[in-house]
Amino acid sequence: MITTHWRPEKYVSICSDNLVALKALKAVRTTSLVVHQCKKALSDISTRHAVGLYWVPGHAGIRGNEIAHGFARGGSALRFLGPKPALGVSRRDLEKRVGHWLVNQHGAQWRGLGDTQRQAREFISGPSLGTRAKFFTFNRTQSRVVTGLLTGHNTLRRHLCLLGLLDSHLCRKCGVRKETSAHILYECEALASLKHAYLGFFLLEPEDIKSLGLGAIWNYSKVTGLP
Ligand SMILES: [Zn+2]
Repeated sequence: MITTHWRPEKYVSICSDNLVALKALKAVRTTSLVVHQCKKALSDISTRHAVGLYWVPGHAGIRGNEIAHGFARGGSALRFLGPKPALGVSRRDLEKRVGHWLVNQHGAQWRGLGDTQRQAREFISGPSLGTRAKFFTFNRTQSRVVTGLLTGHNTLRRHLCLLGLLDSHLCRKCGVRKETSAHILYECEALASLKHAYLGFFLLEPEDIKSLGLGAIWNYSKVTGLP
């Protein structure tokens, strides 16, 4: 802590290479106890001295700065005394780290699905921040339809037959094949012109579905009137 009460100097200049700390001291509001204590100390000093805070480049051979670094190195080797946390971490940094952790966890869970969720893994390449952002713009109906189409949990005939709710699982458009997500998205010949108009292709492969945008899938499924 700086003590100046016995000093005769009129001016006190404090030089630091820490721009973040200087900005924190300059801010009108603070939520940090350490910053608050520093501001109070500076306020006390300024009742007897004209106080100035200055930024100087670090590790540039400035004598006072080098001495301060020496003290800091020595201090870091000692046991911490003062308000916690000893190592300040910004809220933004914490949010960023939690976000990264969530993305990693999501990826690990996706890769660990094993033999389950076969339909979803066939059409979805994996967790994607872009896809998530698009998904959050959807309303409930859009979310339900697109999710159902990509995961197989939908109201297409094949799924309803499996649930015992329908007798026929044949496609309502062509009447030839089982009405499944795969059939609707890339097999059904009766939907070829709609596939071309809304998905950009007359013929698609399962791998092509992974690169389609959710908006295109929603628009296509809407005009088919199926899911
Ligand atoms: Zn069909």
